[in-house]
Amino acid sequence: FRIPDPRNEPVLSYAPGTPERAALKARLAELSSREIEIPLVIGGREVRTGRIAEVRVPHRHGQRLARFHQAGPAEVQAAIEAALEARKTWSAMPPHDRAAVLLKAADLLAGPWRQTLNAATMLGQSKTPYQAEIDSACEIIDFWRWNPHFMERMHHDQPVSPPGQWNRTEYRALEGFVFAVTPFNFTSIAANLPTAPALMGNTVVWKPASSAIYSAWHVMKVLEAAGLPPGVINFVPGPGRAVGDPALGSADLAGLHFTGSTGVFQQMWRTIGENLPRYHGYPRIVGETGGKDFVFVHPSADVDASATALVRGAFEYQGQKCSAASRAYVPESLWPQLRERLLGMVAEIKMGEVEDFTTFMGAVIDRGAFDSIRKHIGVARASSQAKILAGGGCDDSKGFFVEPTVIETVNPHFKLMEEEIFGPVLTVYVYADIRLDEALELCSTTSPYGLTGAIFARDRDAVADLTRRLADTAGNFYVNDKPTGAVVGQQPFGGARASGTNDKAGSIANLYRWVSIRSIKETF
Ligand code: GLU
Repeated sequence: FRIPDPRNEPVLSYAPGTPERAALKARLAELSSREIEIPLVIGGREVRTGRIAEVRVPHRHGQRLARFHQAGPAEVQAAIEAALEARKTWSAMPPHDRAAVLLKAADLLAGPWRQTLNAATMLGQSKTPYQAEIDSACEIIDFWRWNPHFMERMHHDQPVSPPGQWNRTEYRALEGFVFAVTPFNFTSIAANLPTAPALMGNTVVWKPASSAIYSAWHVMKVLEAAGLPPGVINFVPGPGRAVGDPALGSADLAGLHFTGSTGVFQQMWRTIGENLPRYHGYPRIVGETGGKDFVFVHPSADVDASATALVRGAFEYQGQKCSAASRAYVPESLWPQLRERLLGMVAEIKMGEVEDFTTFMGAVIDRGAFDSIRKHIGVARASSQAKILAGGGCDDSKGFFVEPTVIETVNPHFKLMEEEIFGPVLTVYVYADIRLDEALELCSTTSPYGLTGAIFARDRDAVADLTRRLADTAGNFYVNDKPTGAVVGQQPFGGARASGTNDKAGSIANLYRWVSIRSIKETF
């Protein structure tokens, strides 16, 4: 068999008068007209625990989208048992039959489900139509088409067999279940973290972020519609520790697929370390965590391109991307022009309800995010080392709105140059052109993270030099482009240092983590 060659799903424009705009509006109206109740799904059966939490629209406090049931230790145990039971048949299934489920799910999402999932992501996570489209439509479709292709390539990788022997490499599922823990900021990550291990024959206990349950539930529905057998992916939302502790404490834990905060990831890693004697093997740990991503502007840079990248990199999806631009190094020779261009663009940003197709920024996800971002802005406001050049306002009267904020600091080690904020806040440090070396050193050493980074330079020697000297700073490095928006099959995504295990989502490298390889030597 051969998996069809994947192509990246084209991004629809949503221009006025297009069928996609009409379809999206219809789905938004339909989803907004009713509140739903979201159960757990364990072994293909809906489970209602009665421990209810609710989902509200981040940009409109008054609108409740759903009430969802939360799991506790007993349901996690049931989910683990369902996963182990389903593993018996799923892991033995020919790989192309497993791939067929994802390929069909991709087709459903490219077709009838597309606007439903986009509308769910817009309402539940306050994404604009464009931000929803590149996430919950295109990136998921790409994951579900490219990963089967990578799996096929992996299976073709076989050892040589001298005369009298037949050597084989068998790519087997891990022994046990995989625990997938997914974040609120990308529906595509929520879709990929359980399905990538499942494609390789594993079965999964999935804990989606409580703040993105609404779209996660719709992802589950697409997978069911595509024929995912019961128990392969078990949907168990709930509080972090109540779900996490029993999952990580299970003797059958075979892997953790995580995206979220650095602190939570490190805590989970410690828990796995403490539990090592109970496990049958060494659980695979794959994590993508925080970032403090930079844009480094060289004196030879194009000012307009740099300004555009800063605005898009820092403020699209309210800066709530691990990859978001949050610290910039700008030479003093370019700063007057760049500052003017940047502040001019920021002044034009439209923030508001994402159902308005001209909105550029919606609300941040929830009260916790709003308070934490406001506190960070307060640090800048109170400091003599920083000046707020644009924005700074926070308004939670209707929804959790934070203005796009640009801060200039004279201290390259100012708190906001070092700490992840996960909101629409960009901090700029202006360096003297003659101290370029020092600025590069600061860029490389200031943050413990290593997720994404971008350089802007027109001088070819500078491009080569900066690319080499900033080599360890970013798993995803961009030259003359914004540091966000990696595309599956084009820029495998993941960071090093404190940003994660760098197992590159959307690549063959990631899939290798979900197999246990058996070498078979047969002598004739
Ligand atoms: N893959 C996304 C990007 O390239 C970022 C994912 C994340 O925020 O975790 O922008």
